[in-house]
Amino acid sequence: MNVGIIGGGQLGRMLVMEGRKLGFNFSVIDSNANSPAGRISDSSYSYDQYRDFIGQSEVITFEFEHIDSRVLEAAESSGKLFPGKNSIMLKRDRADEKNFLKGIGVPTAEFMVAETRKELSEAVKSFDHSVLKSAAGGYDGKGQYRLKRNDKLDGIPDQKYVVEQKIDFDYEASAIFVSDRNGKVVMFTPSYNLNRKGILLLNRAPISDPGFRDIGERIIRSLGYVGAMGIEFFVVDGKPMVNEIAPRVHNTGHHTLLGSTMSQFEAHLRAITGLPINEPELLSPSGIVNLIGKDLDSTTRSEILSIPGTVIYWYCKDSARRGRKLGHVNIASHDEASLKKRMDLVTRAYYGDDPDKYL
Ligand code: ATP
Ligand code: MG
Repeated sequence: MNVGIIGGGQLGRMLVMEGRKLGFNFSVIDSNANSPAGRISDSSYSYDQYRDFIGQSEVITFEFEHIDSRVLEAAESSGKLFPGKNSIMLKRDRADEKNFLKGIGVPTAEFMVAETRKELSEAVKSFDHSVLKSAAGGYDGKGQYRLKRNDKLDGIPDQKYVVEQKIDFDYEASAIFVSDRNGKVVMFTPSYNLNRKGILLLNRAPISDPGFRDIGERIIRSLGYVGAMGIEFFVVDGKPMVNEIAPRVHNTGHHTLLGSTMSQFEAHLRAITGLPINEPELLSPSGIVNLIGKDLDSTTRSEILSIPGTVIYWYCKDSARRGRKLGHVNIASHDEASLKKRMDLVTRAYYGDDPDKYL
C-alpha cells in the first residue's frame, strides 16, 4: 500500500514510523525536501510535483491544515483523500469551524466574528474577558490576543478575528476519535492537557469522560468523516465544551504510542486504508512531555532515558527556536501517581525550573 502524506512535519513522521509496521510505503509532499517525515519516507515531492505525488499514492492523507489549494483540489478529485476536503475547509477559517459546531448543537465558548475594526471593537466590548483568534492560519496559540472589555485595540493587527469569551475552565482535555470507511467510530481514552502560553506542554491519560464521546460522534457523523480527529475540550463545571477540532492525528494523542493497544497513527492508517479498527484500550497510565524550544544535548537525553518508562521521539527539525515543538517524551507507568512523578522528572530534566523561557 502506497500512502501519500501532505505535509512533512512530526505528525507525518510518526505516521510513517507506525505505518512501517503494516509494511506500507510512504510518499511525502512538502516544501522542505528534508522535512521530518520526508527524510524517512520512500519518496518525497515538492509542491510543484503534486500530480506525480497524487498519481503515486493509493490513499492520500494530510498532517496539517494549511494545504496549498491546488494540491487539495487535485487530491480530493482523485477520490483518494481521507479525511475529505469538507473537514479541512472548516480549518481555513475559524469562523466556519465555530459556526459549524454551533450549527450541529455542540457547546462552545460564546463567540462573535469580526471582519472590520468596528466589529472588533464591538465584540471586545461584549465580553468581560475575551480571546481574539485570527480567523486564518493560527496554531500553537499564535495569532491570539487576550483583552479586557475596555482595552484599546492598539497594536492588534488588522485582520478577521473570531472573538471568544474567555473561559474559566476546570481543566482542558482531549479525545482522539477514529472513524473507518464503514462509519464505525471509536474513541481513545480521553486525556488531560496542560497548555502554557497557548502551547501544549503536557498531556496524560486516563481521565473520565464527562460527555466527550457523544460530542465527538456527532461531529464525526455530521462530516461523514474517515480517519483520526483530535478534539480539544474545555471542561467547565464538569461539562464539556469544544475548543477546536483538528481533522488529523493530534499532539494530545501521542500518549497512545505507549500504553495503548494501538497508536492514533496506526488507527488513522487502518481507517483510511480500509483495514479494521476496534475500540482502543489503555494498558497503563500514559503521558507525554513536549520538548519545545531548545536542542536536546546528550547529557539531557541520557538523564531523560534514565527515568523508567520513558521513550524519546526527536523530530529532526532543521533548527531549534523558541516555541517550536522539536520532540516529545512518552512516559508510562503502572499507576497514575508514579506517572505524574516521572513526568515531573522529565520536565525538570529538559526545562530546568522554567519552561516559560523556551515557550
Ligand atoms: P493548536 O491548534 O496548536 O491547538 P491554536 O493556536 O489553534 O492551537 P487554540 O487551541 O484555540 O489555539 O488555543 C490555544 C490555547 O489557548 C487553548 O488550549 C487554551 O489553553 C487557550 N484558550 C483558547 N481559547 C480560549 C478561551 N476562549 N478561553 C480560555 N482559554 C482559551
Ligand atoms: Mg488548540
